[in-house]
Amino acid sequence: MDEFSPEVSTALQAIRLASRLCQKVRKELAEGASIQKIDRSPVTVADYGSQAIICKLIRDIFPDDIVVAEEDSAELRKPDHSSLLHQVTGYIRDFFPGVSSEEVCSWIDLSSHSIRNRFWTLDPIDGTKGFLRGDQYAIALALIENGLVQLGLMACPNLYADKDRPDEKRGCLFFALRGMGSFQIGLKGEGRQTLSVSKVNDPEKALFTESVEQDHADHLTHLKIAQKLRITRPPLKMDSQAKYGVLARGEVNFYLRVPSPSEPGYKENIWDHAAGAIIAEEAGGKVTDLYGKPLDFSSGIKLERNHGILVSNGILHEAVLKALEM
Ligand code: AMP
Ligand code: MG
Repeated sequence: MDEFSPEVSTALQAIRLASRLCQKVRKELAEGASIQKIDRSPVTVADYGSQAIICKLIRDIFPDDIVVAEEDSAELRKPDHSSLLHQVTGYIRDFFPGVSSEEVCSWIDLSSHSIRNRFWTLDPIDGTKGFLRGDQYAIALALIENGLVQLGLMACPNLYADKDRPDEKRGCLFFALRGMGSFQIGLKGEGRQTLSVSKVNDPEKALFTESVEQDHADHLTHLKIAQKLRITRPPLKMDSQAKYGVLARGEVNFYLRVPSPSEPGYKENIWDHAAGAIIAEEAGGKVTDLYGKPLDFSSGIKLERNHGILVSNGILHEAVLKALEM
């Protein structure tokens, strides 16, 4: 596979349409509503819409491939949810005029939860809480063959393109192909840049990133690790796999995800890490679990054989792993 392969052009087109849908839903349904007032319906509309579009476009070109994605249409088909389904269908009609609600449901259900040698995995909206808050979220799509991520794409509609000018242009599309590097373009496909991780080798100078949500990671243990490494800078808290993107761009030096004490045995979903992992690795980063084991994408929809996540610029990896041996 190279950048001219149909896998790449199809995935790029699908993720760009899905990110346009998510941005429109965000603008029309979530913007302006206060956090207290907002319910989850905007993210639900965007979630189903994004999954329907991406599954449809991938399966049109690759009818024998499967897409392992989070949602199915069972809830959406319930009579109680008819107005939700109507909204989802309305947003999809921007791209597919005349599509019926039944077709939308059938596109959502093109996904599956059984993995094969070759499969796609999709998080139609990663970072749902970030989406609702108006912070970071991502649409993340990856192609996995024989347990290895071969292609990863991640659209981050609300991420600044240039960290030195965070108030200017927002919206980034990251993609990486195994052995061929990691890149960032704009959401319209413009301005391609090759990404590389930072060269920071002194843990004391490191900046690390973690989830915003306390329930998704053990922030107290992260703080202890930071103290052990004599890190003085507070962590950058960010939702979604956008964390992998800012690491690949060299803006942070590692990303730590120790399971939260509220769910110490939590197993990560493959769609929450596959795209981000190849984007970080192809930019020169290292991605393992907290014991230094590579992520195993071949054991099902969860990373059953891994515990927590450590992503780094490679140089700092051993130091952080050592600090984790408590
Ligand atoms: P983040 O934005 O980094 O906080 O990660 C968002 C993802 O965390 C969601 O897509 C969920 O699948 C995942 N998640 C849900 N519950 C947990 C948990 N207890 N521990 C870790 N991740 C979780
Ligand atoms: Mg997710």
